[in-house]
Amino acid sequence: MRWCVGPAGLLYEQALIGMQGVLQAAGEGHWLRWIEEDIGTWREQGSTAHHRSAYGGMGSFNDLYLTSAQSEPDKIWLNEALDTLRHIAASVAPSAEQSSDSFRQVPPGSSTTSLAGVAISVCGRCQSRFVTPSSILFAAAAAWCSWAVPALVQDQHGESVADHALGVAPDDHREDYVTYVGAAINGSGVALADYDSYAAWSCPSCEHRQWRTSSVGVF
Ligand SMILES: [Zn+2]
Repeated sequence: MRWCVGPAGLLYEQALIGMQGVLQAAGEGHWLRWIEEDIGTWREQGSTAHHRSAYGGMGSFNDLYLTSAQSEPDKIWLNEALDTLRHIAASVAPSAEQSSDSFRQVPPGSSTTSLAGVAISVCGRCQSRFVTPSSILFAAAAAWCSWAVPALVQDQHGESVADHALGVAPDDHREDYVTYVGAAINGSGVALADYDSYAAWSCPSCEHRQWRTSSVGVF
């Protein structure tokens, strides 16, 4: 994971612009309007108050999760990008408001998806190990976002974060990450699961229905 450095105001605005693109791509109307208001109040009044009020509490911006199904791989990437952008904006907002030009270094955030490994399910009886396609994507997306998003924000390309996350920008490395994580999983002897939900799924090897979670290190 990398650091993100620059004038606080610039990092703040670029993170908001990144969010605008991500929320637009994800079709999240409510929070898109919220962030657009944040951009307006920042540019017109130098205020970060409206954005900061989005965090904390039930149903807040922190709780916004862009995906719930394996059928939406793009949203997994957008979700991880949003997570990184939220971390950057929340980290620099107080400094940006105090003094827009003040130099800030944003430490890497602790992503919701652990970079330490890919989440897997282990059969409670026969110990067979399975990974879901979405777990592979989450790990690949979190690893990619950890450096690509801070770099785009720092280089003032917040507007292209969504395109990179969606894999439509040149040199985005998205497929490289999927290949890399997939190969690491293959090499670890964990089988690819046919299903994404383990709750109602019986083990293909022994038909047991209880699973425990574990992880396989990749990076
Ligand atoms: Zn089993």
